[in-house]
Amino acid sequence: MKAEITKWYMDADSPVNLMIDDLANVWVDSNNNGKPDLGEDRGHLTHGENSSYKYLMENLVRYFPYIKITFFVPVNKKPLIENSGLKTHYGPINENNEISSFFKKVHLQENCELAYHGYTHGIGSNGERKYVQEWLSYKDLNEALETIKKGRNLFYEVTGEYPLGGKYCGYASNGFSDESINKSGFFWWCRFYDREKTLIKGKRKFSPRYFGSKKVIDIPTTIAGNVFDVYFKSKIKTFIKVYFEKKLLLYENIFLSGYKQLYRLLRNKHVISIQEHISPSRTDGKRQLLNIFDDMESLKKIFDYLSDKNVWYATCTQIAQYYEIYANSSLEIMNETLNFTFNGRKFCEIEATILFSRIKKSFVLISQNGKKYHPVKVVANSCLFNLPLETSKYRIIYE
Ligand SMILES: [Zn+2]
Repeated sequence: MKAEITKWYMDADSPVNLMIDDLANVWVDSNNNGKPDLGEDRGHLTHGENSSYKYLMENLVRYFPYIKITFFVPVNKKPLIENSGLKTHYGPINENNEISSFFKKVHLQENCELAYHGYTHGIGSNGERKYVQEWLSYKDLNEALETIKKGRNLFYEVTGEYPLGGKYCGYASNGFSDESINKSGFFWWCRFYDREKTLIKGKRKFSPRYFGSKKVIDIPTTIAGNVFDVYFKSKIKTFIKVYFEKKLLLYENIFLSGYKQLYRLLRNKHVISIQEHISPSRTDGKRQLLNIFDDMESLKKIFDYLSDKNVWYATCTQIAQYYEIYANSSLEIMNETLNFTFNGRKFCEIEATILFSRIKKSFVLISQNGKKYHPVKVVANSCLFNLPLETSKYRIIYE
């Protein structure tokens, strides 16, 4: 008999997360008619009429209730353009009771979580200055740390918990950004849009990886929500644009079909993290690319394709936790005893999945404190057990 810790929970090929950016206390009246229309809300309308959250629940989650969503929240979002002339509402997530309780409710919901996405998200453009993404706007590490602390406290005030993870605004960072995350007490962070050319090479590209002295877990962003809805013409346009901007998105990431991108992620047991935004509305009159309104059909195709695959729907926190388990556990079988060792951090209620193969008879595991564990899945001559994150010896008792 052989025992090993599976790469992902329940021996899934890939974990799947829907990442939705910029849920905030914001409404932008894009068509300037004075009332909130569908698509204009970024969270300010909470779950009410024409709210983007309601749209997401009714058009996607209703059909795929098991999916897990991580919302990235700028806690006191400021506009892209100062004085755009549009009617807008920008406020902190603790502006009033209704707003606070909406954000808290979403965070505590079983299939969702909130994560940190900056204090203001950045400094708005005016006549002279272009928009500056938040982590590029700090003059030094100290200013970054102070602002993050303020933002984390606001997040705590609203949700009752400090954010476990987050994402750079616009995936933009500089020389001291990573240290600001490392020092602020985050367990995980999204540093890159990994379909672009980044520092991360080879097999690690679409997998989590550690950074910083406190081993923050970097969760990759691996697929665009509109992957099934990009016309060849706009692919050519993107290719030319990124070529001249020297961002050099990999050729295959633009031209490969959605099915091929998903298939390759699954085959390599990579993370499937789907990038989206809560709304297309912007103060500069442009349409926010990758938004749940324009991409709803593509999102449905992604989740349809995955519906018969061996995947694990997980929040970013759960993905990070399992990565921590996989990287910090070891196993040994000796004399009908399984020794399980876990040396990592525990930051949510996910257990370690152990795959036993070449088994001859069915069995249960009894922990040192007498608790009995049954297999959670049995297939042919192998089986899976989920064990808690404690170092323990288990007796193997044949039935
Ligand atoms: Zn953002």
